[in-house]
Amino acid sequence: MTRIAIIGGGISGLSAAFALEERRKAGADVEYTLFESSMRLGGVLRTETVDGCVVEAGPDSFITEKPWASDLCRSLGLGDQLIGSNDAERKTYILVRGRLIEMPDGLMFMVPTKILPTGLSPLFSWKTKLRMARELISPPRPADGDESVASFVERHYGAEMVDHLADPLLSGVYGGEAANLSVRAVLPRFAEMERTHGSLSRAMLAARRRMPTAQGSRPLFTSLRDGMQSMIDAVVSRLSPLSLLTNARVQAIQPEAGGWIVSAGLQSDHFDGIILALPTYAAAQLLSVCGPELSAELCAVGYSSSITVGLGYNDEVRQSLPPGFGFLVPRSEGMRLLAATFVHNKFPHRAPEDRALLRCFFAGANAEAVWPFSDDELVGLVRGELEKILGLRAAPLFARVYRWKSAMAQYGVGHLDRLDRVERLRQKLPGLALAGNGYRGIGVPDCVRSGRDAATQLLDSR
Ligand SMILES: Cc1cc2nc3c(=O)[nH]c(=O)nc-3n(C[C@H](O)[C@H](O)[C@H](O)COP(=O)(O)OP(=O)(O)OC[C@H]3O[C@@H](n4cnc5c(N)ncnc54)[C@H](O)[C@@H]3O)c2cc1C
Repeated sequence: MTRIAIIGGGISGLSAAFALEERRKAGADVEYTLFESSMRLGGVLRTETVDGCVVEAGPDSFITEKPWASDLCRSLGLGDQLIGSNDAERKTYILVRGRLIEMPDGLMFMVPTKILPTGLSPLFSWKTKLRMARELISPPRPADGDESVASFVERHYGAEMVDHLADPLLSGVYGGEAANLSVRAVLPRFAEMERTHGSLSRAMLAARRRMPTAQGSRPLFTSLRDGMQSMIDAVVSRLSPLSLLTNARVQAIQPEAGGWIVSAGLQSDHFDGIILALPTYAAAQLLSVCGPELSAELCAVGYSSSITVGLGYNDEVRQSLPPGFGFLVPRSEGMRLLAATFVHNKFPHRAPEDRALLRCFFAGANAEAVWPFSDDELVGLVRGELEKILGLRAAPLFARVYRWKSAMAQYGVGHLDRLDRVERLRQKLPGLALAGNGYRGIGVPDCVRSGRDAATQLLDSR
């Protein structure tokens, strides 16, 4: 019998447990125990229903293009619960000098692919528009190490594009700044496009021509009708309750006799393999004695904190809000808010027809700056900024504040080289596998895949 310990009960750890459970049911002689330090499973995936609205505390959806989360949902029997974002309403605004300006049609991330809408958009100055035109004739450029997303985007389209689009878009995903994120790790496709085509706009147009039309019509985001937590509840319902230990913080791990001793509370137990499904700094702490070099590499991956504030409003407010998915706020606007989603438009199933649901987001330095605020103070701050941005004065029917300390990994410049070193060092510790958002993707689908792959790696190495 192979005994495996999974440390961390977020979606990465649960996905590992589910993969092991599937193998066990298929006849593999394996047993697992999952240790979660908090009282609840799911990590940052958490949903509350308030006044008929589905309020997401952490992630609200995942990108459809990456299949692993949807695949897991289908394996869990949740296929009929999967919903797509309402892309017919997909408009995103950027706050520029206090005014919300719609992102022009044809922008793929920050790459313009339609000349007319971009050329006419007030989002960019003439200087940036000329840069966009010049970018079309950029020659291919050999891969030359890593650099920050900010410097990469600035080379192509200038500083305004970094401030108005690249930075706010990345803040929404990584909670971090374009100046600190690695282009090779965060935008690998763009780095490759530069190598092969030079111009990102030309490369994107060529890719679009190759894309089958059916793929173009898929919704950009996928979620679950009753919220992301239903994924957690479904995984948990498929696992043996005896294998899932909550309120069980692992304090130490130690390689012994070809396996690992795991110590939580007053208990120590021996396992053949161990999956650390944790933020890298938490994995680093556990590895500091038995793998100091690996621990130092893991410790060097940065993490940022974030806060989401869910606000429910009445129908009058719903009618007064602009159409679309929401808005992004460039740092240069001097606000604390980084983004707000109009959830009732993005996923109409998530709010009754006479309710508006807003999801407001702070991350990185902005989240740290307001961290000491009480929940009431935070709601007051959000309301003040929403009034400035949207003219929204009405009091919300409800407000929920969720704080996530150091939960979003930041892939700094050189991240992929670090991962190569991490992998070499990991191999020196047999029976150890790593999963989570600190490695090859921060999104829910990447975390699902990382957990599943960690489980497969351990079983197949035996
Ligand atoms: C506010 C927010 C919004 C997001 N939005 C999106 C989105 O819309 N779409 C998307 O795809 N992704 C989104 N993400 C990213 C994604 O949700 C996360 O990267 C992913 O869920 C991380 O899962 P995880 O299991 O790796 O980590 P976590 O969820 O952090 O789980 C790790 C678990 O380990 C436990 N733990 C820590 N130390 C120990 C220990 N010593 N012993 C035992 N247990 C321990 C913790 O209590 C925690 O439960 C968002 C993240 C946040 C924070």
